[in-house]
Parts: sequence; C-alpha cells; structure tokens
Amino acid sequence: MNYDLNRVKALVDEIFAQIVALRRQLHRYPELSEHEENTSRLVCDQLSALGIPYRDHIAGYGVTGTIYGRDRGKAVGIRADMDALPISEKADVPFRSQNPGVMHACGHDMHTAILLGTAAVLSKLQNELPYSVRLFFQPSEETIGGARQMIEAGCLEEPATGIVIGLHVDPSLEAGCVQFKAGAMNAASCEFYVTVKGISCHGAHPAAGLDPLLPACEMVMSMQSIITRRLPATDSALITVGQLHSGTKNNIIPAESSFSGIIRTMKNEQRQYLKEQVTEVCQNIARSAGTTCEIKFRDSYPALVNDEALYELMTVAAADVLGKDKVKISNTASLGCDDFAYFCYSSRGLYYDLGTAKPGQTDAAPLHSDMFCPDEEAIRTGILTEAAGVLKIMEEMQNGK
Ligand SMILES: [Zn+2]
Ligand SMILES: [Zn+2]
Repeated sequence: MNYDLNRVKALVDEIFAQIVALRRQLHRYPELSEHEENTSRLVCDQLSALGIPYRDHIAGYGVTGTIYGRDRGKAVGIRADMDALPISEKADVPFRSQNPGVMHACGHDMHTAILLGTAAVLSKLQNELPYSVRLFFQPSEETIGGARQMIEAGCLEEPATGIVIGLHVDPSLEAGCVQFKAGAMNAASCEFYVTVKGISCHGAHPAAGLDPLLPACEMVMSMQSIITRRLPATDSALITVGQLHSGTKNNIIPAESSFSGIIRTMKNEQRQYLKEQVTEVCQNIARSAGTTCEIKFRDSYPALVNDEALYELMTVAAADVLGKDKVKISNTASLGCDDFAYFCYSSRGLYYDLGTAKPGQTDAAPLHSDMFCPDEEAIRTGILTEAAGVLKIMEEMQNGK
C-alpha cells in the first residue's frame, strides 16, 4: 500500500472550513451524557451525505459507521466521544452554547467534528484502502462509560476491529502539535462513600452521645498516609476527598457524618489494594471512636494503557504528516481517566493528546472550565493524524504485523 500524504493534506484543506462550521454547530447545541440525541442525528446525516453506511442507537445514542475497504472483514477503528458537561459557558465566542447550563467544555465537539472530517477524507480514499475503517461515535464518556456499553453491544465485531485509536484535546499543548505517551497514560478510578454513625446530643455534653465527626475527620486525614506509606514511592496514585457533610447546627453533635471521594491509580491491581486499605483505615478509626461506619465503592474506568507497537506506528505517522517538531513525547502519565481505556482491553488501543492552545498562549483555560476555548486549527491536526495513522496502521497490517 502506497499512500500519498500530500493527497491527504489536500483533502483536509478541501473540507477544513466545512468541518469547522460543523464543530461550531455542535458547540452551539451541546447535549449531556445519555442525551446526545441531536448530536447523534447530525452525525448520521453527515455519514449519509458521505455515503457511509451506519448504525445508530447503539448503547443509547452511539453511532458506528463503516468505510469498507478491500477486506470487508477486518477493520481499524477510530473513536470520538460526543457528550457535553453541566457547565454554563462563559467563553466569549460567537458560537456560544445555546443550551443553558450545558457546554462542550471537554472538547468532545472537536472530537466528533474531527472524526467526521477523517471519515470524509478516508471515504475519498476508499478504493485504495486494503482494510475497512470503523467510525465510533460514542455517548456518555463523562458519566457511565459509553465506550464499554458500545463494546458490549458488539461494536468491535463485523467487521472485526482489532485496533482502535482515539484522541483528546489538550489545552496545555499548542495547536498544531500532538503528544504521545507509551504504556500507561490515564488512571484507574474508583469512587467511595463513607458514612460514620454515632449518637447525637447537645454540643455542651459530648459524653452524652457519640461524636461521628471527629473520627470522620481523622479518616480523611489518615487516608493520605495510605498513599505515602503503603504504596511504593515510585508509583503514582491519589485519594481525594471532595465532599464532607455533617450536622445541622453549631451546638448539636450530629448522629451521622459522611464524606466521599475518589481513588486513582495507574495500575488496576493497586485500585483494588487501595480499596482494601481505605476500608481498613476507616473501620479501625470508627471502632476506636466507638462509632460504626459504612463504606461503599463504585469502580469507574480502568487504567488506560497504550499498545506499544501502535505507539511506535502512530508517532511515526504523525511525524510524517505534521513534521517531527510537532510531535511531542510525554513521560508523565495523568491521573485523569477516560473510558477509551475499555477499547485498550477489548482491542489494541492508542490514545493521544491533541494540542489546542493558541500559538504562544501559556494560560489557555483547562478542560472542564467555563472558559475552555480550543484553537480550531487543532481540527486540521486531528484529521491529519487520524487519517495518516489509520493508513500507516493498514500498511503494517499488510506487512503481516
Ligand atoms: Zn471531560
Ligand atoms: Zn473528555
């Protein structure tokens, strides 16, 4: 397979303005997780216009499209998430969100538009594609893990899709650049909820009751030493308590105190270990205070681990199409999490960062900020790297690797 990157670049130039317009339309009408109805319809309309067969209503509002290559039974997948966040947009842009309290503050409008752009480019090269391309437009990344549900619904079958790539916007990186990380890239996550139960009484007579607030505070403090004393110092992990609730009045000892937080680890097995440690610390402190405590855990996404061979291939493909200076290599994993991780367990997966800061800008608003405002030039970089990446991967597949 001999693919021509200049042709890819010319095709991207042709559609760029149209894809930017699409992104702005998506940005204007953001939809929350599990409610991506109009977004999904727009995706289907665009795929129809490109003559790409698709299936919709997968795991809610998910859509899969297929560009059939010569081998109709084997495919490379590309994933974009489509959901927005419950945030009121403050960014001063002409295409500001028209849906009150909802905003594309994680750039999933960019991801969706980029994948539609990549679909347009690769469908023009359809006759030259040795294998098929699967397009995964995924719902509910921000909440319930739409990726997992789409996989469970069989999106990696027929044609068999053994490789999936995806990207995420990154405002800490300049637009025009991409960044790759070998191996573990994002954390495994777990939520926890702790309730400490005591006996309420007058604040002036604490001995008449059983104060649940003191042991709750001690638990919050002691949890931090789990990280520093029970895990190897070279491993990254964290425990964050984000909520603490107790009582109704300053002179009443409450009957109950509760707090909740998250555990993040770069290794799936350490997530399990930390759950056990959190349980032990909380139960022991509760017992020593004469109180009782209930702990609930809810596992979120597993650790996102990039496939080594795909990492090598994508790094080369990106350098070929963007120039070496635009391709950054990261040695630092993020304790953020992303449900793309599920694709890395059900197929070989590669996730990478797409720079969205304006040239020279060092204070671009972060993800999930009401001021988040990516440089749309990143759309070009996103399409170029997705398209060149898929072509490069197919070349390797032909070589029997
Ligand atoms: Zn997000
Ligand atoms: Zn996101």
